[in-house]
Amino acid sequence: MIPYGRQSITQADIDAVVEVLRSDYLTQGPVIPRFEASVAARTGARYGVAVNSATSALHIACLALGLGPGDVLWTVPNTFVASANCARYCGADVDFVDIDPDTWDMSVASLETKLATAAAAGRLPKIVVPVHFSGQPTKQEAIHRLACQYGFKIVEDASHAVGASRNGEPVGNCRWSDVTVFSFHPVKIVTSGEGGMALTNDPHLAQRLFMLRSHGITREPHVFVAREHAGDVGDAGPVAASWYYEQQLLGYNYRMTDIHAALGISQLARLAGYVDERNALAARYGELLRGLPLQLPTITPGNRSAFHLYVVRLRSGRSRRAVFDELRRLGIGVNLHYSPVHLQPYYRALGFGPGQFPEAERYGRDAFTLPLYPALTHAQQDTVAAALRAVLEC
Ligand SMILES: *Cc1c(COP(=O)(O)O)cnc(C)c1O
Repeated sequence: MIPYGRQSITQADIDAVVEVLRSDYLTQGPVIPRFEASVAARTGARYGVAVNSATSALHIACLALGLGPGDVLWTVPNTFVASANCARYCGADVDFVDIDPDTWDMSVASLETKLATAAAAGRLPKIVVPVHFSGQPTKQEAIHRLACQYGFKIVEDASHAVGASRNGEPVGNCRWSDVTVFSFHPVKIVTSGEGGMALTNDPHLAQRLFMLRSHGITREPHVFVAREHAGDVGDAGPVAASWYYEQQLLGYNYRMTDIHAALGISQLARLAGYVDERNALAARYGELLRGLPLQLPTITPGNRSAFHLYVVRLRSGRSRRAVFDELRRLGIGVNLHYSPVHLQPYYRALGFGPGQFPEAERYGRDAFTLPLYPALTHAQQDTVAAALRAVLEC
């Protein structure tokens, strides 16, 4: 079976991990800050906060922005469930904004309409989470303009879009958002095994994110609030005893390990090459699949997608289920990203149902993901295309 995605691990990756295993620290050592600095440098964000998954990054981003019971977070139905679940972890409600029929990202027009209605009803979202679906950047500057108008915060779920850019600016620079989240799960663009990162330009948010990642604890004297309890701290200055730390918030153990960060740093060195290879393979699919009854990905002018996923939509009378099953039988590991989140049993139990987000539901009925990863050979890609031709032309 040719899988839909696969990590690439080199000897350099293995050496980097082994080096940490032989060092003094397995976690909370010097490698985490180096990984954070490398990701921040590549994206242009001021701060990077490494955590054990993108899901954790989404959770602490929501907490750092003050999301809580009574608040609402909006995201898209066409995403992994984590983009919505982060609100539920905070006791907040979730609502969805339908997708654009061409880019499959959040529709800015739908967002605008829904905001006007929500403003009239006094139920505006506190946070909007656009998802750079498949690696294609959302029209973030337009969403930011609406954030200024309506006063919501933006957390970009860029789990698919490490290495993508829009109008020459890297996704993750946080120019148009409060926080951007990356995933380093093995199927994503670069991996740390498990891992994620929250990026921001705001020093206060960064401070809170660092604390929330590790029990709500800080060891930085300049932010201590209870100096009188700091043991040896005298009137002479804010020099706390070296054992002193403060828990100021209710945080978690969401730390990344140095082992994971070492793999992340090593992989990051090949990011540009991986994104080039993914784009080249995507362009080649465009050639190979021409003339078949499929809607191929549309890239918005100004965008460079990271092509985490290569999704096509069935435009023939055949049922998606039949096409999907036949392709699997031919050894092609097609998949679906995503069945709409609002139709998951958990969200249906909260009151969502069919008919609410028709574009995402149509997408969920006719989309499927083809194999795409840097090590996919042209011969394998030809096999995928031939299988599609055999299934769709009969
Ligand atoms: C993979 C993914 C996540 C979660 O990432 P983890 O690192 O596995 O927690 C969140 N959002 C989207 C859109 C994803 O694809």
